[in-house]
Amino acid sequence: MSEHSLSFKIDAQSGEARAGVLTTRRGQIETPVFMPVGTAGTVKGIRFEALESELDAKIILGNTYHLWLRPGIDVIRAAGGLHRFMNWNRALLTDSGGFQVWSLGALRKITEEGTEFRSHVDGSLRFLSPEVSMEVQAALGSDIVMVFDECAPGQASNEETERSLNLTARWAKRSKEAFDRLQAEGADTGRLETEGLSGAQALFGIVQGAGHLDLRRHSLEQTVNIGFDGYAIGGLSVGEEKSLMFEVIEDIAPRMPRDAPRYLMGVGTPEDLIEAVARGIDMFDCVLPTRNGRTGQAFTSRGKLNVKNAQWTNDARPLDESCGCSVCRRHSRAYLRHLYISGEMLASILLTHHNLAFFLDTMRGVRQAIRSGDFPKFRREFTERLDATGE
Ligand SMILES: [Zn+2]
Repeated sequence: MSEHSLSFKIDAQSGEARAGVLTTRRGQIETPVFMPVGTAGTVKGIRFEALESELDAKIILGNTYHLWLRPGIDVIRAAGGLHRFMNWNRALLTDSGGFQVWSLGALRKITEEGTEFRSHVDGSLRFLSPEVSMEVQAALGSDIVMVFDECAPGQASNEETERSLNLTARWAKRSKEAFDRLQAEGADTGRLETEGLSGAQALFGIVQGAGHLDLRRHSLEQTVNIGFDGYAIGGLSVGEEKSLMFEVIEDIAPRMPRDAPRYLMGVGTPEDLIEAVARGIDMFDCVLPTRNGRTGQAFTSRGKLNVKNAQWTNDARPLDESCGCSVCRRHSRAYLRHLYISGEMLASILLTHHNLAFFLDTMRGVRQAIRSGDFPKFRREFTERLDATGE
């Protein structure tokens, strides 16, 4: 049996862009990959059957913070882990809860030990630390676990950012120690023997450092020294300029270990994904396709389309004429607009479905283009099509 909990193989490259296969204990995932976000044990507005069959998502996310507060780990442990609780047998990645607590802002208090905050569910005082986060993620039994980190705001000063990323490094070390202990104790509910793999959870480290390149490099070095199965870039897309985000990715991604998966957390629009792939990123997650779907926004190959607009009242065309998803094959913009305006729940369901299909198809196209050597052309044409509409 291997000592590794996952394997990663790159089989094509185009500049910094890489196409490969990430093998987890719950299946193979072709990269670059977009991971739909299942915050509270559900990718909002879509059934698992659709995620599996039509959309063929190989991996989804769960949020530690939300699942810890509700239903709580006793319920999930009793159900045999999050895979069994949801009955999703493909790969799962859980975040550490750090970002959710961070986004509570004034409601939290950070100490060396961890973060104290008030639950948004019942107002109770809670405490999240590297050890607690690892314990919760072991109980969830996800296939990829994220270290507990602290996120400095995008505009943070050099000193503030340095203090924060040093704390992140100490928390990463404690995360790994707690993680190893929990694996040895058998706390991981998702353990699964798979050929060539150890059956254990995989653990990813997170590089912080806001918009300061020197600190980002320092954080990367600290993280790689501890040693993880994969590496993530955190703390981007939190209000900084887009140009700064790409500057950080362009500088940091190529310095990340070449033979480990690189994950850009919480980003972004389809064009952001393509631009980050071009700079060497393999994995993405974002709430945009689901969240914006629920507020009437569709992502299309010609840009964003707001389904509420009166201009679609009698429009018989699908959301996206070059999309082959079941929503675009069946329904018109006029009908979708009517559903949305009438407050019908089906509007959210159909828009979410199309948006996820569009994100996953885009990544399929990206992978094919890297493999066939056409990625520069794919990237150029994708951008030109978006620019042509001016919407
Ligand atoms: Zn569609």
